[in-house]
Amino acid sequence: MNFCSNCGSSRIVKKVPEGDTHPRLVCEDCGDIHYTNPNVVTGVLPFNDNDEILLCKRAIEPRSGFWTLPAGFLENGESIEEGALRETREEACLEVSEIKLFTMISVPRINQIYSFFIGKIVNDDFGPTPESSEVKLFKINELPWDDLAFRTVRLTIEQYLNHGKDSFSNKVLDD
Ligand SMILES: [Zn+2]
Repeated sequence: MNFCSNCGSSRIVKKVPEGDTHPRLVCEDCGDIHYTNPNVVTGVLPFNDNDEILLCKRAIEPRSGFWTLPAGFLENGESIEEGALRETREEACLEVSEIKLFTMISVPRINQIYSFFIGKIVNDDFGPTPESSEVKLFKINELPWDDLAFRTVRLTIEQYLNHGKDSFSNKVLDD
């Protein structure tokens, strides 16, 4: 941060404000404290009754060309569930129903929290988007394990295979 977003001053210093426990970026002119906090990624594991799940091949960095579950950063002003449904539409042109919180994965090293819902596939005219070069159903015994984009995606799919769609898991990825 080079300039204070409150007053425009360039006199930003890193220090622990009185009564606080963490160093923050503080404006020396107006006193504004610029907090940074973890980002929330929200998404869906879409499944159907034919033992298939839906994955998207990423068309954008990071991890372009690798397979992922539809997911993305939560926007201001939306619920975590609304964010998951929006990302699923944006990345896969897909609607899901009966969604239920499925995994919550903290990744403190990169200051992110992933939350995946599980949801039943509604439409069959899903397909590629600017963010996904391919959108495809995979039989659970034909999943592209070596080409998954993120460990959070792997953990979420493993949760589904090992514990079923009615389970829930709260995990920490700390290495
Ligand atoms: Zn300021």
